[in-house]
Amino acid sequence: MWIDTHCHLDAPEFDADRAEVVSRARQAGVGMMVVPAVTPSTFATVRAAADMFGLTYALGIHPLFVHDMSADDALAMLDEHLTRWRDDPRLVAVGEIGLDFFVPALQTPASLALQERLYGAQLELAARHGLPVILHVRRSADALLKQLRRCRDEGRPVPGGIAHAFNGSHQQARTFMELGFKLGFGGAMTFERAQQIRRLATDLPEDAIVLETDAPDIPPHWLYKTAEQRSAGERSRNEPVELPRIAETLATLRGWSLAQTEAQTMANALAALPRLRPVVQRLSS
Ligand SMILES: [Zn+2]
Repeated sequence: MWIDTHCHLDAPEFDADRAEVVSRARQAGVGMMVVPAVTPSTFATVRAAADMFGLTYALGIHPLFVHDMSADDALAMLDEHLTRWRDDPRLVAVGEIGLDFFVPALQTPASLALQERLYGAQLELAARHGLPVILHVRRSADALLKQLRRCRDEGRPVPGGIAHAFNGSHQQARTFMELGFKLGFGGAMTFERAQQIRRLATDLPEDAIVLETDAPDIPPHWLYKTAEQRSAGERSRNEPVELPRIAETLATLRGWSLAQTEAQTMANALAALPRLRPVVQRLSS
């Protein structure tokens, strides 16, 4: 089974044909997806989508949405939902959380302080609820690692998770792995010019890599639209059905068969997000 460890199935881009998107993916062998929330206003729809389609989900406050509501209210809502749905087997992680050091509007001192505060508080919640985390890493790997180390050193370690759409250095990758993380690879790896990502996908230990689409974002090269096409109104929408073809790039880079790639990345996903295992087992029994 292919597992898409990061798919925003609740996004409005899928409103018109969500059921078809899921069934297309299933037909291509993508038997499981993890749907991460980005802001409290989407918690209920993310959970409902996971429930309706037999998928799994994560709850968190994404750095791009830190201004949606007061930080205290957002954190209280997250804690309340993690508590209320603690026994829901489909809830597999806290996410998508993290730090974005790229989007210009988020680089003011006030925004950076708010991002750090929400990230740190959500790590505490993850540790307290015993859930792994799904991390948004955008030029922010060292700052993310710093707070993860702090949690560990203060005796409240976060139980690992996934550094999604990873594009850091080998050293940063190794440090994430030491803290119990897997690294997420997707459409970006299919571009020949993405040399650093392809080197990572080639060199990292085999148990470090999970696959993801980040649909509807991060389209693989065969769906990519140039700036010209986009300004002419053409849009590309990534879908979980693309995962096996994205995986072919990983297989080629590593010299693996496609079956080996499927088995290894599935085992890695189950190790990163242990609550996935019973859900996946029920599917295959
Ligand atoms: Zn995402």
